[in-house]
Amino acid sequence: TKLSSNDLEEEVKSLPIYSARKKLVEQLRDAETTIIIGETASGKTTQIPRYIFRSGLSGNGMIACTQPRRVAAITIAQRVAQEMDVELGKQVGYCVRFEDFTSTQTKIKYMTDGMLLRESIGDKLLSKYSFIILDEAHERTVHTDILFGIVKSAQKQRKLFNKPKLKLIVMSATMDVDHFSRYFRNAPVLYVEGRLHPIKIKYTAKEQSDYVRASLVTVFQIHQDEPANNDILVFLTGQEEIESVSQTIKDISLSLPPNLPKLIICPLYASLPHHQQLKAFRQTPLGSRKVVLSTNIAETSVTIKGIKFVIDTGKVKSKQFYPATGLDVLSVQRISQAQAWQRAGRAGRERPGVVYRLYTEAEFETLTANTVPEIQRTNLTNTLLQLMAIGINDVLNFDFIDAPSKDSILVAIKELKLLRSVSESETGKYTLTPLGRKMAVFPLEPKLSKAILCSVDYQCVEEVLSLAAMLSVDSVLFTPQAKREEALAERRKFTASEGDFIMLLNIYRAFKQNKGNKVWCYENFINARNMNNVLDIRKQLRDLCLKVNIAVTSNHRDINALRKCFSLGFFMNAAELQPDGSYRSIDAHETVHIHPTSCLFKCKPAYVVYRELVRTSKCYMRDLCVVDPDWLYDAAPEYFQKKLKKL
Ligand code: ADP
Ligand code: MG
Repeated sequence: TKLSSNDLEEEVKSLPIYSARKKLVEQLRDAETTIIIGETASGKTTQIPRYIFRSGLSGNGMIACTQPRRVAAITIAQRVAQEMDVELGKQVGYCVRFEDFTSTQTKIKYMTDGMLLRESIGDKLLSKYSFIILDEAHERTVHTDILFGIVKSAQKQRKLFNKPKLKLIVMSATMDVDHFSRYFRNAPVLYVEGRLHPIKIKYTAKEQSDYVRASLVTVFQIHQDEPANNDILVFLTGQEEIESVSQTIKDISLSLPPNLPKLIICPLYASLPHHQQLKAFRQTPLGSRKVVLSTNIAETSVTIKGIKFVIDTGKVKSKQFYPATGLDVLSVQRISQAQAWQRAGRAGRERPGVVYRLYTEAEFETLTANTVPEIQRTNLTNTLLQLMAIGINDVLNFDFIDAPSKDSILVAIKELKLLRSVSESETGKYTLTPLGRKMAVFPLEPKLSKAILCSVDYQCVEEVLSLAAMLSVDSVLFTPQAKREEALAERRKFTASEGDFIMLLNIYRAFKQNKGNKVWCYENFINARNMNNVLDIRKQLRDLCLKVNIAVTSNHRDINALRKCFSLGFFMNAAELQPDGSYRSIDAHETVHIHPTSCLFKCKPAYVVYRELVRTSKCYMRDLCVVDPDWLYDAAPEYFQKKLKKL
């Protein structure tokens, strides 16, 4: 089914942007910064870097095109390499966290916004690049928002020091681009017409109380009424939900009339290894139907072959940070209208499409118009650490396109100080400590990097790396709905009274002992692919350790040493058992509970630290480690003096 490059060339030439290419290149030649807005599917992301390259505008420099999501960066790079008939990784490559698929020959580089930000730590002027395209700017991810300031300053500095010019392009799908233009001293705005095929929008007549059920009903309705190869994309909120819907569809399809097309279910979420993610993008075999069950990672940028129907539940799982309490909580929320339009845009990229919005038109009207920029609703600890690693110490006065609240900046600085990564001078100036500088080297949340760096003193670097890698892939446990009891029973042999962290370490060790044997994984309900991902990430983290001169020691026996390291990183995520059997988060004094999936669910240890908080009916702590209150206290006495009265 591979298209010949001739067919592809025809396709590419039929894109709306093609006829505008000459004008576009002229514009880009003249302006330092250009804002481009275009409806989806006009060809911006795939074609503009090619035009720049071919016109010679980029000279000896590289063209970077950032994407908020890794799956977009990868699939777009693949597509463009195919269009140009070159091998991926040569002239066209991609770079995402834990994976660099570029070479010295690479001229067009699709990358996540996070990776470009990371590169600026080593080179604030981003000297390799002659063009930087910030794509999907309307998504307003923290990384893209921060990059606005970084690239603007790099452009200015390069001019100041007579270095080769840096040209910037900001691409967005929304009409509200004046804001971007103003930020770049009234940069010219170009409009690119779209060629979205017509999309029919259907709302529900009544409000739906159970969107998961509603989405299932809609999938089967379409499946019964519509011919094969008209594929369906469903937007759900998270991995667990997707796995469970996937199982339900599989179960139900067993009892469907045999004349219906074969159903191919493709889950799509961030923690899925990317070769599994790519399955969703493949062309469906004739006579079957693909159902892609995705989180919002497929919301923008991507083209999924064959999608005719989009089912939009109107929900998204996202993290909300509350500066007042310092809590960072993951929960299901309503999307914005802008997101609803992006989701709709995933249909109609190749032909006319239909969108089923599982909410009423009146409900749609009540959604907020635009998504609040992530920077204004997220914990900024990691962002500030990175900014300071780039050399921007005066974070309060950074040139934010939209500044976060001063409170949330101060809360983040407080956290960084407690983590011993930032120090404050007597005149109130902040600088990174040597520890903080090393922490910034790791592409991990600061709490996790801190645990790695602490393990040097406890001589258990190998163990902490294993666990850090396990925590970086979100699900090595595989719990099929149909064999749930059996899976939980098998898992019992790994569980540890010290909590989920140690259970994960046990799994890692058992996996290594069995040399990653696939049958072993299958029998133990361990996701073998994710485990291989763990090995890969672990290797990269280990290389980073060597890079910052950390002696990689090992202490196989002393589990406590490992737990201490994690309490030194996660002490701000501590909770204390209450007389009524619930927990109280020490930081915010909120009532929290042990998540039912935790191996500590039926235990009641006095003190735990958690990886994250998830709010459903209650606020749950997920991924736990039992700790000794003394360890917590030692991590930051000034912090716990007030909080732990009992000590
Ligand atoms: P924009 O960035 O303006 O939304 P893109 O450049 O991403 O548009 O894509 C333009 C068109 O190219 C799409 O509508 C689709 O027809 C085609 N296309 C892009 N990526 C792929 C892909 N991975 N597979 C198949 N077709 C693709
Ligand atoms: Mg695009």
